[in-house]
Amino acid sequence: MSFSHDVRNELARVMPEKECCGKAELAALLASATIVIGSGDNECNLRVRVEHAATARKIFKLLKESYGLQSTVHIENYKRFGKTKIYEVNTYFSADNLSILQELHLIEDNNNNKNQPGPHLTRKTCCKRSYLRGIFLSRGFVNRPENDYHLEIVFIDGKMATQVQKLLARFDIEARIFERKNTLVLYIKESEKIGDFLRVVGANRALLEFENVRIIKSMRNTVNRQVNCETANLAKTIDASVRQIDLINRAREKKGWKNLPPQLKELALLRVNYPDYTLKELGELTDPPLSKPGVAYRMRRLEKIAEDIIGQL
Ligand SMILES: [Zn+2]
Repeated sequence: MSFSHDVRNELARVMPEKECCGKAELAALLASATIVIGSGDNECNLRVRVEHAATARKIFKLLKESYGLQSTVHIENYKRFGKTKIYEVNTYFSADNLSILQELHLIEDNNNNKNQPGPHLTRKTCCKRSYLRGIFLSRGFVNRPENDYHLEIVFIDGKMATQVQKLLARFDIEARIFERKNTLVLYIKESEKIGDFLRVVGANRALLEFENVRIIKSMRNTVNRQVNCETANLAKTIDASVRQIDLINRAREKKGWKNLPPQLKELALLRVNYPDYTLKELGELTDPPLSKPGVAYRMRRLEKIAEDIIGQL
């Protein structure tokens, strides 16, 4: 199975804890839905097609939990592009609950907003993350880290692509957009930023696998750089780096992270950006440079504080 498939499988099982986040994620998941006008006045059917059973289940659950709506799921065999099944989630909207479609920006509201993360849906950080999770689930792709680093999200709507680009920038993730046939492709190439994306949307298992491969890959470059480095030392550096990056990534999720002293934040950032560097090499990059024992001391403090931050509720 592809790495994308693993990521989507994991994300489909992350259920938003708060009502606000559930609505944000639904808006993203349903952005490509078709609305079929019914025979009666102001009634309609919302139809969305997805490739994964778990994603269909998530849409079904979120519609029920957020709005009490009951949907039906229909499976189609679809033998094109190597995909065999398509799941179609159908939901009926009576005239009374059409306002839900407006709230989710699936039909135009008074301000002509459609299929865009409306400010009310993505105001809070928690909702921004949920929205991005829904976007990746419905239209994202990421290469296995063993191959070239590449994550992309495909859009039909240019406004939506730019909005998502802006949302990503709020998490310090720089994404570019290019045109491919009739679509707009938003993509991320930098490995740390792809890692950041996985962290932001909550794909923790995939992130760990991604970081492991990333570290081992960049270690190979180190081997070329330091041919005389002993294998045992190398293995020790990898193990320590994997553990430190995992600690840093988990602590970054928590509130206490922003109170971290600047020197420790600097070191954490360097560790994540240079997973293959030894402590001595990291010391050459700090401002001002630090000796190896100096970095080792600072790293121990960082690890200790990161553990404390993770332990906090
Ligand atoms: Zn929220």
